[in-house]
Amino acid sequence: MSKKLFVYAFILSIFISLTHCQSASDQEPKTALSSAKIPEREIPEEIEKPTPTPKKYLYITFDDGPNKGTQNVIKTLKKEQVSVTMFLVGEHIFGSKDQWFDFNEIINDTIFEIANHSYSHANNQFMKYYKDSVLVLNDFNRMNDSLKRKLLIGRTPGRNIWRTPTLNITDIKSSKESADYLSKNQYKLIGWDWEWKSDEKSGLKQTGDKLFNEIDSLFFNNKTRTQDHLVLLTHDQYFKDSISTQELEKFLKRIKTREDIVVRKIRDYPDVRTAVN
Ligand SMILES: [Zn+2]
Repeated sequence: MSKKLFVYAFILSIFISLTHCQSASDQEPKTALSSAKIPEREIPEEIEKPTPTPKKYLYITFDDGPNKGTQNVIKTLKKEQVSVTMFLVGEHIFGSKDQWFDFNEIINDTIFEIANHSYSHANNQFMKYYKDSVLVLNDFNRMNDSLKRKLLIGRTPGRNIWRTPTLNITDIKSSKESADYLSKNQYKLIGWDWEWKSDEKSGLKQTGDKLFNEIDSLFFNNKTRTQDHLVLLTHDQYFKDSISTQELEKFLKRIKTREDIVVRKIRDYPDVRTAVN
């Protein structure tokens, strides 16, 4: 082999070798990918999800405050962190320093919603009161003016009356005109489905446990004005003593054990929020 030929052969062999290396390195990733094992996905077994229990909505409302039972009610609700609606009476708010203090405590804690139960509570002369629609409206407006608020969720004193976009119920017919007039003037009136009553001597008629069972049964048997929504009425003044206050605490604790019962304020009652806002 001549020297010249040898040099050509040498250069050619380097060229071939380089080209081979290049194409090999080009192919390498492909080879690496195609040979890599794709991990088998873990296929989850079919999990049987439990059907969620339908929710029941409970609205706990206290009427006629502030008065001598209000402080116990406030303390218990704050302790248990349960939301409620307080249907307040204007004359009671301005009735004493203690009651004014209670009112301020109520408006400064978001667990409480306040609502209009009139300024005078009809001076407890209900038949006379409801004969005069204008007087009734003025009394509700006076409550708002005195507090510089616009409380349009109301409860008629001494009457179980409902006026919402979907409910129109009047317990004593002679009050109908006044209720309609309040309704025409933007008020949404909320009555109640069930009551936690007192007996003659202001002790509670039902224990907290008994009340809880009654509520459970009303939900179960669909005995409420709106299905799955129950408005409970009680009064601050029933909780003046420690025994009744303990019953309130027991009741709230039992409610909290039930995941299917949701406690709400009245503004969240069906059709009330949109109507008021
Ligand atoms: Zn009342």
